[in-house]
Amino acid sequence: MKNIILLITSTLVITSCSLLKNTKTIENNSPTTTTPSNPISISIISNKSFFKNESSSTFLNEVITKSNCIIKTEKFRSLVTNNNNYTSTNDNGLKVFSNIVNAPIVSFKTYRSSKLNIAARNVTANANLGEPIINWNLRNNPRSISRMVNTAIHELTHTINYTHKNAKDHKSVPYQVGNYGEQTYDLGFCN
Ligand SMILES: [Zn+2]
Repeated sequence: MKNIILLITSTLVITSCSLLKNTKTIENNSPTTTTPSNPISISIISNKSFFKNESSSTFLNEVITKSNCIIKTEKFRSLVTNNNNYTSTNDNGLKVFSNIVNAPIVSFKTYRSSKLNIAARNVTANANLGEPIINWNLRNNPRSISRMVNTAIHELTHTINYTHKNAKDHKSVPYQVGNYGEQTYDLGFCN
């Protein structure tokens, strides 16, 4: 049976941690780069959309526009790459950023959890490890754009196999990188 683990933003306990995907590492030996210690250029991802909306919820179009913009900012790149203290992975910040910008395009889908299921009711969104799909719970969305940018980026990292032990594993890639997205937005980027 496939290793499918439900991962849920903000509220969920994750019981398993795996890092299966090893995406391409970008090498750059150019002596002209202005940031030699961080050899990933924003320009290589300038035309990329990291998400596509496969739902009929139009608020997700704005989440896509803003999240794409945030991931491409120098601010977000520097926050992610300058952090080499992520838990639940051995990857350094540069590797994390490289994996994010090389991630397969993630589809947005929606569902509405049952009012009766208390655990499911609190979920904002979820993704399975290694599957490029984010399921947004319409019972808890839309929220503010900055919070949903956080969720989109948090869940994106799950789709490339980053995980966290539980909802208190705040130094994990999903939590830290999602928070970096929210912080960048709240600083005024992409508004
Ligand atoms: Zn998560």
